[in-house]
Amino acid sequence: MTSSPIKLGIVGVGKIVRDQHLPAVAKEGNYQLVAAASRHGKVDGIANYPTIEAMLTAEPGLEAVSLCMPPQFRYDAARAALEAKKHVFLEKPPGATVSEVEHLKTLADKNGVSLFASWHSRYAPAVEAARNFLASAKLTSAAINWKEDVRRWHPNQEWIWEPGGFGVFDPGINALSIATHILPPMFITSAALDFPENRAAPVAAHVTFRTSNGLPVTMELDWLQTGPQSWDILAETDKGKMVLSGGGARLALDGKVVHEEPEAEYPMLYKRFAEIVRARASDVDLAPLQHVADAFMLGKRDVVEAFFD
Ligand code: NAP
Repeated sequence: MTSSPIKLGIVGVGKIVRDQHLPAVAKEGNYQLVAAASRHGKVDGIANYPTIEAMLTAEPGLEAVSLCMPPQFRYDAARAALEAKKHVFLEKPPGATVSEVEHLKTLADKNGVSLFASWHSRYAPAVEAARNFLASAKLTSAAINWKEDVRRWHPNQEWIWEPGGFGVFDPGINALSIATHILPPMFITSAALDFPENRAAPVAAHVTFRTSNGLPVTMELDWLQTGPQSWDILAETDKGKMVLSGGGARLALDGKVVHEEPEAEYPMLYKRFAEIVRARASDVDLAPLQHVADAFMLGKRDVVEAFFD
């Protein structure tokens, strides 16, 4: 490491901060974690504040912040940080609307700091191998199947069922972050979203896309999958059938595994953030978020059985 560590604050201390951000920041080497801001959560061994505003006032030496609260509450925090000239790492999804994130990008540019709209699944171990394979082959169709058990992965997360919480598109946007990286440009042609009668966000979605050269892509999202979980992207090509499974962890061609490694998504995200901070650049790709917005815009709403935790 040639530069001094980036002085970092972390905001919204909950599940993903404990599971991924704290271990990744400790491991990555480019950072000094200085402070945290959260209404209830605390991080041992550093200064803790109840709000980002209190943290920004008390810690003028902070250089960057990671914003890990649910997406509905991220814009105001990001704006405060950017206006205080801090570099900003946004958890996925980067915001609750496309236009608010576009505005954050404008604010980052205006204040001369970096904005990172992170997409952790893009850094899954076999994603680049899948992208390289598809670049070398002629695609004929693709299918995204993202089926998991919401009770197992999101217990007691009320925000995820609220407007702006995205429902099943919270994991689904991870699939879209990979698909928009490895497949040709694509556009939604139809969508049906299943809303439990007692919830404001969908529990399942059935989406069809057309690529820019007219090929069909389907996406099935299901949050009631018990037993084996599937986070798979399949592609039919002139060089055989590609299956990217395990959320981007494993690549198989015609049934033979050709790439599989332990995952290191968050250390790679923090490495990328350090790169853009040092280069005074931003990395904000809104394609996955735009597809979610389009699914809600074009999607037919079907009311299904009530959901209870
Ligand atoms: P979480 O634990 O429910 O929320 C994170 C923290 O945000 C909470 O502990 C809470 O801390 C704060 N928060 C909650 N509601 C808030 C509000 N109304 N205003 C301000 N702060 C609020 O959620 P999470 O699982 O960590 O997910 C957070 C983000 O990370 C989401 O965008 C999610 O998509 C993304 N993510 C999650 C996972 C995962 O496996 N869970 C994986 C990758 C990405 P305080 O109460 O202390 O303020």
